Amino acid sequence: MTQSHKHFKKGDLIMRQGDNGDCAYIIETGRVEILIRTPNNDDHCVGTRGAGTIIGEMALVDKAPRTATIRAIEDCSLLEITTQDFSARLDTADPILRMIIQVILMRYRDTLKHSTIMRGPISSSAEAAELSYTQNSDAVESIKIANAFKDALDNGNISLHYQPMISLDDKKIVGFEALMRWEDPEKGAISPGVFIPIIEDSGIIIEASKWALKESLQALKRIEGQTGYENNLFMSVNFSSKDFAADGFVDTVYETISTTDTDPKNLHLEITERLLMGQPESAKQTLEMCHKAGMAISIDDFGTGYSSLSYLHYFPIDTLKIDQSFVRGMLDDDNMMQLVKSIIALSKNLKLNIIAEGIEEKAQAQKLHELGCNTGQGYYFAKPMGEADVIDFIQNANDFDF
Ligand code: C2E
Ligand code: CA
Ligand code: CA
Repeated sequence: MTQSHKHFKKGDLIMRQGDNGDCAYIIETGRVEILIRTPNNDDHCVGTRGAGTIIGEMALVDKAPRTATIRAIEDCSLLEITTQDFSARLDTADPILRMIIQVILMRYRDTLKHSTIMRGPISSSAEAAELSYTQNSDAVESIKIANAFKDALDNGNISLHYQPMISLDDKKIVGFEALMRWEDPEKGAISPGVFIPIIEDSGIIIEASKWALKESLQALKRIEGQTGYENNLFMSVNFSSKDFAADGFVDTVYETISTTDTDPKNLHLEITERLLMGQPESAKQTLEMCHKAGMAISIDDFGTGYSSLSYLHYFPIDTLKIDQSFVRGMLDDDNMMQLVKSIIALSKNLKLNIIAEGIEEKAQAQKLHELGCNTGQGYYFAKPMGEADVIDFIQNANDFDF
């Protein structure tokens, strides 16, 4: 039985993602870093390991390509355990020990088969190996989702749905919110609640938002053209702090408005309080440029941030969107009702528009209208829909009943 000690100098490559693996290592001394490739082909560090731990052990479970690159960040001494060595040890091990290890390995493969939303069924040992020793790490999972999203964006598997917003005064559609949808051919729909925070973290949201802005404004033109609502409807597009921090954000927005021939007042930028608080000076500058050009600025999920209200004066804001949690609770919980009333009063004092999100019942729509809220959005009126369904919906909709 061979057993060799390998020595690596600080900076040396120990294994490379994608190469075939036929051994694991026990770290005797030193420290290594684990790197996973991102969609931009950068290597992203997802953690480090030190003496006493094992690396590359998936090779002992299923011989398959390495799923990460590992590099020495200190001089290292590693004990190499080849797959043959491992099998030989198992064969000569105490029978009970052998059985326990074999069962654990089998169950480990099984766990991999059934784990988490993005993975789907495991069809090959290569795929099994891809979920290697770092498989439980959120960072690795996030990078996989970000990579898969980038592919989906390139392959046309990302689309937009549009949720109508309704004037509570005259019961007509006044605009839409554009919401991203990801339909994976094998895994089905993946929720924005899952992928948006991940693509925000990875920065891919910048490309996705550019695409969404252009696509939604082009769709708005087509919807207006087909329904006779010429230049009367707005499109509200969600932006993240990464979008705002990106070079040339304002130029991209101007250019898209111009190439899609959109009246700036029909573009609403939806941002959160968190974005404003995170980068107040630069956000103010960006918003002022957009506002001066005629676009409207909406604060999404209003009331869920923990920021002070003084920022409402500091930034050029046009609209507050009352978060759906308040709307959901307002008829049963007096505290929620008081909050909704305060937000509406505040918006009146500051001469801001107000949009209530998440209206699911007629009684909520009626109450909000009575309290002076002028616009509503929610399943009661319409769910987010694809472009063709939106056109159909407008052409066949009577006035809303509430
Ligand atoms: P959001 O911006 O607050 O969007 C509203 C969410 O509430 C949407 O969920 C919408 O489908 C859902 N909704 C609308 N009416 C109702 C209702 O009556 N009841 C209930 N229970 N839900 C309702 P969705 O599409 O799953 O999006 C979730 C979040 O993902 C969005 O929350 C937004 O933060 C983010 N997101 C979606 N698309 C984009 C995008 O293109 N860019 C960015 N930056 N974020 C996006
Ligand atoms: Ca939104
Ligand atoms: Ca919202």
